[in-house]
Amino acid sequence: MLESLEPIVSLAKRRGFIFPGSDIYGGLANSWDYGPLGAQMRMNIKTDWWKQIVEQRADMVGLDGAIMMNPKVWEASGHVDTFNDPLVECKKCNKRFRADTMSGDEKCLKGKDHELSEPRTFNLMFQTSLGKTGDDKGMAYLRPETAQAMFVNFKNVLDTTRKRLPFGIAQIGKAFRNEITPGNFIFRTLEFEQMEIEYFLEEENWEESFESWANWMEEWAASVGINTDMLHRLEVPKKELAHYSKRTLDFEFDFPFGTKELWGLAYRTDFDLKNHEKHSGESLVYSDPSDNKRKIVPHVVEPTFGVDRTLLAMLVSAYSEEEVKGEKRVVMKFKPHMAPYQVAVLPLSKKEELSGITQEIFEDLINTYRCEYDDTGSIGKRYRRQDEIGTPYCVTIDFDSLEDKAVTVRDRDTMEQERISIEELKSYFENKFN
Ligand code: ATP
Repeated sequence: MLESLEPIVSLAKRRGFIFPGSDIYGGLANSWDYGPLGAQMRMNIKTDWWKQIVEQRADMVGLDGAIMMNPKVWEASGHVDTFNDPLVECKKCNKRFRADTMSGDEKCLKGKDHELSEPRTFNLMFQTSLGKTGDDKGMAYLRPETAQAMFVNFKNVLDTTRKRLPFGIAQIGKAFRNEITPGNFIFRTLEFEQMEIEYFLEEENWEESFESWANWMEEWAASVGINTDMLHRLEVPKKELAHYSKRTLDFEFDFPFGTKELWGLAYRTDFDLKNHEKHSGESLVYSDPSDNKRKIVPHVVEPTFGVDRTLLAMLVSAYSEEEVKGEKRVVMKFKPHMAPYQVAVLPLSKKEELSGITQEIFEDLINTYRCEYDDTGSIGKRYRRQDEIGTPYCVTIDFDSLEDKAVTVRDRDTMEQERISIEELKSYFENKFN
């Protein structure tokens, strides 16, 4: 198991998963840019989630709400009043901490212990101004969660889709929080992406739904390659529950810097819809067609996922170092459907004779799989590079391929090599990827 994030941070930069944000200007604290491989993996995470949650379920629909919403939304949701962390500041070194999570062994750079101020509440929402005046009238917040768009659009969705309870709305999008102590690479940043579900139901059914979502979250974790031995359920104690929640399960993951929240599952009751009714003056009731149009405000179970933390847990789960013939081999053992590339096409030589056949194979495979092409350096080095970026299969084309119309397929995990006829290559991969 990894004891520090360092090997992942350096591999991520070296191979193009994640770069420090604004790198050529010396960076911007706690901001990260996803490189070609990281961007692809985030896309794979989101696509798989959306497919399973929205496309393959009759009881779910999608939404793509705006990042900036009417500020009244955040009054109704309770964020203006309660989305705070207790902030303390050292009077000697000016470093800021969250009073509730600060560890006792923090030492002051100016010597000995920190001299801390009294805690004060610090609201985590970013403010910006809309329009040309820049005064308070144009003030807006960058959303700190995607959830609210799904409550605010509850009636629109209900009227247009005619869904019946129970049903859910799902959304993927960026959220922003002015965190007091960001850090640990992409674990806690000011700008991040969420995948959230608001599942609307009758009050008496919340427990059953809660259990079933909890199970789904664990199953999905395993399916995307998160090591479930490192995933734990934490029942959030009553006194620590968020203002909207009656029950919350944190899904914690053993990150190298500690066991921390990966995802959350909350029973939000009818808190949000009721508050939006109160603040907007609009009715957000559901009339039950099977029960004489009985009117109710649905209750909500909310599974929530951070895209960035999901990726980090996948990187940590996949990272593996092995010794092969006295040399260290680093392998990212991603699930094949989540890996940035699924197949690497590697002609043994750049010589003209191999280019036609290589081109044909590459063009054929790239229609179905995410393919990488690499013709530089020794084949051993190229295999190591593909291992480091987690490509499950390499296809090597050599001079014999011109005669026997076959290629060598190398398996990332076993390093075994098989000679496969070019004609059968596609069905070979179909079997492998299914
Ligand atoms: P934490 O306790 O770690 O601050 P939270 O309980 O405030 O997290 P939620 O409000 O439940 O987090 O947000 C839902 C999900 O969004 C989290 O489970 C996490 O995956 C992700 N997330 C929240 N804050 C951040 C952040 N600052 N950076 C990256 N991801 C985040």
